[in-house]
Amino acid sequence: MNDIKDYIYSKKDEITDALSELVSIPSVMGEAEEGAPFGKEPKRALLKMARLCEESGLKVTNYENAVICADLYPEKGLELGILCHLDVVPANSENWSTDPFELAERNGVLYGRGTIDDKGPAVAALYALKCVKELDIPLKKGVRLIFGTNEENGSADLDIYKKYDKFPPKVFTPDGSFPVINIEKGMMRGKFSGSISENGSILSMSGGMVINAVTDSASAVLRSADREALLDEISRDTSGVNFKLVQIDENSLEISAEGKAAHASTPESGKNALTALISLLNRINKRTSFDCKQRSILHNIEKLFPFGETDGNSLGLKCSDSSGTLTCVFSKFAMTGRTVTGHFDVRFPISVKLSEVREKCRSIFSENGLEFEMTLGDEPHVVDENSDFVQQLLSVYEENEGEKGYCVAIGGGTYVHDIEGGVAFGAERGSTDYHMHGDNEFITVEELLRDSVLFAKAIVRIC
Ligand SMILES: [Zn+2]
Repeated sequence: MNDIKDYIYSKKDEITDALSELVSIPSVMGEAEEGAPFGKEPKRALLKMARLCEESGLKVTNYENAVICADLYPEKGLELGILCHLDVVPANSENWSTDPFELAERNGVLYGRGTIDDKGPAVAALYALKCVKELDIPLKKGVRLIFGTNEENGSADLDIYKKYDKFPPKVFTPDGSFPVINIEKGMMRGKFSGSISENGSILSMSGGMVINAVTDSASAVLRSADREALLDEISRDTSGVNFKLVQIDENSLEISAEGKAAHASTPESGKNALTALISLLNRINKRTSFDCKQRSILHNIEKLFPFGETDGNSLGLKCSDSSGTLTCVFSKFAMTGRTVTGHFDVRFPISVKLSEVREKCRSIFSENGLEFEMTLGDEPHVVDENSDFVQQLLSVYEENEGEKGYCVAIGGGTYVHDIEGGVAFGAERGSTDYHMHGDNEFITVEELLRDSVLFAKAIVRIC
């Protein structure tokens, strides 16, 4: 089986060239156009990959320029699918040391947007299939590569694929981490709203840009506030969030809060600027003449989302099981005129049902005079750790990485969240920070080649 390794390593230049071609296409989601459902650039990346697959002698099918498939031995019946995506998140080139859309190699490290997420693994998967084909390794079953272009924005590409075809019985995506991710918690996004009968001292308030993250900034504009009392309360604050006051005019000032952002699946590592600000305003409210008719609504919101709490205890949601603890993040809020609107994100363990989370929220928000609506919901995703498929992947991992294989449960959703039997296999390793979605994203040449070897051996083992 060392043939596989020799083959892949002999193709090192071809593999990095293919990655370079893909990285040079800034395949960030754009305006939908006729024949380009997610914009021009994702389509361009998809067609580039289609060409690379055809040049490798694979049979390619294109589904509305949203997804392509490249099959090896489809006539034997498809047993395994490897799912990758070719779209990327935007990159702010000012913060990068190299051009994010030009692959740069520095001491064996490849920098560029998409190198780890997910163009590098996509190229590794292509060469894995090419290797099996060219070495003429006999397979009993067929393999399908599936390349999508909308993973970063809701995976609507897979809905298009499903109109035409079904997934093979076994699917893995190298769009997570090794060894194997077999459990993804359930997820619910909720929205609440309420109205205020009378205008108060808070002219406006807002915080949070996205729902799936702990917000690191929030601010409020206050009218006729007691500046000294505010400064005093800020000096007593122990949240670790930074507050700043700016006088806007004679009558009004802005108070802003700066905390620490974190992904909604790991909120413990963040500091929520929004809940800290609400708590501060409520404390000021109590001790000064800064009277505010918005008092009761803010008070109720703090009761439901106290600063520092990340387990949903105050919503009555707290629970945990072998897949982890429930997490809850109040992530977005706006008070304008007489309306308040807030958004929050809940990740719940596998023993809980979406409907239970939804109903608990419905009743607690209504008890507190707020309207609740579920805006997004997804049941947990579980694949049996003892299934043949997972055990095959783990054994390939162990033999090649020289390290014990094990399964991981995560709070985030991967590309296979809605695919029955699907797991994530790669491509992040250990605790390395690959700057995925960040500046200077990278993969090492060595890891790229090792991924390809792993995928080729997984194909041979499974098929
Ligand atoms: Zn990805």
